Amino acid sequence: MRTVSILGATGSVGTSTLDLVERAPERYRVRALTANCDVARLSEAALRTRAELAVVADETCLPALRMALAGSGIETAGGMDAVCDAAASGADWTMGAIVGCAGLKPVMRAIEQGGTVVLANKEPLVSAGDLVTAAAREHGATLLPADSEHNAIFQCFDAARPDSVRRIVLTASGGPFRDWSLERMATVTREQAVAHPNWSMGAKISVDSATMMNKGLELIEAARLFPVPAERIEIVIHRQSVIHSMVDYIDGSMLAQLGPSDMRVPIAHCLAWPERMATPMAPLDLIALGRLDFEAPDPVRFRALALARAALEAGGARPAILNAANEVAVAAFLAGNIAFLEIAAIVDDTLQRYDPAAPETLDAVLAIDAEARRLAGERVKDCVR
Ligand code: NAD
Ligand code: MG
Repeated sequence: MRTVSILGATGSVGTSTLDLVERAPERYRVRALTANCDVARLSEAALRTRAELAVVADETCLPALRMALAGSGIETAGGMDAVCDAAASGADWTMGAIVGCAGLKPVMRAIEQGGTVVLANKEPLVSAGDLVTAAAREHGATLLPADSEHNAIFQCFDAARPDSVRRIVLTASGGPFRDWSLERMATVTREQAVAHPNWSMGAKISVDSATMMNKGLELIEAARLFPVPAERIEIVIHRQSVIHSMVDYIDGSMLAQLGPSDMRVPIAHCLAWPERMATPMAPLDLIALGRLDFEAPDPVRFRALALARAALEAGGARPAILNAANEVAVAAFLAGNIAFLEIAAIVDDTLQRYDPAAPETLDAVLAIDAEARRLAGERVKDCVR
C-alpha cells in the first residue's frame, strides 16, 4: 500500500492521475488532493478516493469546500501555505501537476520530505531546475518525469553510462499551426490555440504547444534532468505524436519510446516505477498508423524555440525570466488582451530589458520571477493600448 498525494488534482494531468489511482484502490491510498479553486471537482475526487485532506490554494474558496465536505471526515484547508503543507504531509508518492511556477514551492516541500516526486509541472524545473535537482539529491528524494518526452527519455537513457549517449531527440507535434503561414498565425484566436490536434491538455500548455514554447520549456527541462549539454539536445517535428522522444547512442543505436498520446501512459510508468502496471489503453496499431513522419521545426514562425535555447545556453536567471514572461503573456492571450504572435514578442522584450545576476536561492528565483512578471505585464498593457 502506497500513499499518494496529487497537487493540482482537478486539472488535466491531475484527473489522469486520479483515474489510474482509482483503478487500483488496493495499492494506493490518497493522502492529499489540492486545487486552485475547483471545489466541485476537488470535493468529488476527495469523496470518491476517501482522501484524508483536500486543499484549495485560493482561500476564498475554502468555505465552499468545507460545505461540500461537511460530515465526510475529510480535513480541509485553504491558501498557498496550506498547499505547501499538503505537499509535505507524508505521502510516499507525490504528483506535481499544478500549472506554472506556482508549483515551485509545493514541489520543493514535497522533495524535502524525501519519497518519490513526479513532475508533470515543468515550469519549476525551467525556473529553478538546479535548485530542484540539488534538493532531491540532498533529501534523497526520487524525481520521476511525467512529461511524455522526458518520461520517454528516462525509459531509454542508460543513466549508468551517460558518456555513451550522443544526442537526445525531443519530438514535437508542432501544434495546431505547424502548417500555417506567419500572416495567418497573426489571426489565431483563443479557441484555435487551445484545440491541440493530438493531446487533450490544460489551456496554458495548449497555448504553449501552439507557440512551441512548450518544446522550448521542455528543452530546458531535458537539460535539467539528463546529463547531456544543450547543443546535444535536438528538436524534431513528428506530427503523429507516437514516438515520444529518442536517445541516440555513440554506436549508432537509437532508442525510442512509442505509445498512444494519452498522459496516462507516462503517469502509469511513474506510478508503478520500477514495476509496470496495466492501463486501459489499447496497444498501438502500427499497421493502422502506417507511417511516422519527421521534419525540422521552423525557427521563423516559432520564435519561442530560439528564445528558449538562448536562455538555456546563457543560463543564470534567463530561463526563469523566459518562463515568467511567457506565463504572463499566455494569460493575457487567453484573456483576449494580446494577439498570438505577441506572446513570443513579449517574452523576447522582457528578456532584453531584464538581466539580473544568477539566482542562488529559491527566494532569489521567486524575486526574479516576480520582477519579470511585472515587466511583462507592462508590455501587455502597451499591446492593449
Ligand atoms: P490544468 O490547467 O489542467 O490544471 C492545473 C491544476 O493546477 C488544476 O488542478 C488547478 O486547480 C491547479 N492550479 C492552477 N493554478 C494554481 C495556483 N496558482 N496554485 C495552486 N494550484 C493551481 O493544467 P495541466 O494541463 O494538467 O498541466 C499541469 C502541469 O503539467 C503544467 O505544468 C503542464 O505544463 C504539465 N504537463 C501537462 C500535460 C498535459 O497533458 N496536460 C502534459 C505534460 C506536462
Ligand atoms: Mg510534453
